[in-house]
Amino acid sequence: MVSLRYTLTDDAGTLLDSSGPEPLTYLHGFDSVLPALERALEGNEVGFKSKVTVPPSEGYGEHDPESIFEAPRDHFPPGARIAPGMEVTAQGPEGPVTLKVLELTDGGALLDANHALAGKTLHFELEIVGLREATQEELDHGHVHEGGHSHPHGS
Ligand code: ZN
Repeated sequence: MVSLRYTLTDDAGTLLDSSGPEPLTYLHGFDSVLPALERALEGNEVGFKSKVTVPPSEGYGEHDPESIFEAPRDHFPPGARIAPGMEVTAQGPEGPVTLKVLELTDGGALLDANHALAGKTLHFELEIVGLREATQEELDHGHVHEGGHSHPHGS
């Protein structure tokens, strides 16, 4: 298990994401984080710091204009308030997907299914702040069990 502090900025240096007050803990080797980050951290110890630049091809993909489409008003729940900049959730073939409302149209709304980070070069600053062996249960599940949180898939 790797505990990590990180900040993520774009080309302009705008902060996009960070680990916040508590470090992010993830199970190394299970694709929980971007492969480029796992490669940068591989084999390192607590205190290791690194800056990693991840191009869109190794991050969240290129921004795909085909993923922008108009959804008719009756595809939204009756009375739902929709405004540009909002995110809405829809059922996709592989589970829920997040769509960003770009603008309202006469018949509905223009939606963008691209990942919010698609097309962006990602600049990470990473610091390893903790390492421990994963428990067997964590290895079986492929994710972190920490702080006694429960999760929906039971034992
Ligand atoms: Zn679990």
